[in-house]
Amino acid sequence: MRKLLIATRNAGKLAEYRNLLAGVPFELTYLPEVGITDEIEETGDTFLANAVLKARAYARASGLLTLADDSGLEVPALGGEPGVHSARYSGPGATDERNIDLLLQRLAGMPQVQRQARFRCVIAIANPDGIVYTAEGACLGEIIHAPRGTHGFGYDPVFYLPELGRTMAELPPELKNQVSHRAAAARAAREILSELAKLY
Ligand code: IMP
Repeated sequence: MRKLLIATRNAGKLAEYRNLLAGVPFELTYLPEVGITDEIEETGDTFLANAVLKARAYARASGLLTLADDSGLEVPALGGEPGVHSARYSGPGATDERNIDLLLQRLAGMPQVQRQARFRCVIAIANPDGIVYTAEGACLGEIIHAPRGTHGFGYDPVFYLPELGRTMAELPPELKNQVSHRAAAARAAREILSELAKLY
């Protein structure tokens, strides 16, 4: 079976994609397994630009069809912040906790309607010739005033899903994997991969 390189060094992310892309006609691998140690800087100013940058660079380096993603939180009332800076929002030495503190501080005093937010995930799939296909997913919610829940990572404890009445960090992982921005993007990516399987 043809290989699909998942552009990550994180075994957890590989496991998540194995789950989200179960049944696609490719054998999934990841950077440590193919011996790629180069670090690609995420210099783009959109999720799309960063996902495409990473997918192209690692496809070229590996000679394999490659899937890369970029994701983060956007709050329209903050002009789309933290956006592509989600991981390092609070600056050098950023932690999930400090990022959440800064976000809550920026939103302090704003009415509830201004606390709407979305997680976004863009997936890019590139072949070694640089041809790229993209898929996107979003998850809508609102930022609450204090963290709740222990699952997940990043901004999950303050991201409240009104339809479920819980924060993302209060959802069991199986449920997060059905409703998340990454799950939505992966569903779209699945269709692309099924088509590509006919070509490769
Ligand atoms: P990445 O592009 O998947 O590495 O995500 C970048 C950053 O966005 C993470 O470090 C988190 O701060 C935030 N983020 C992305 N996805 C999620 C999620 O599912 N829950 C909470 N935070 C997320």
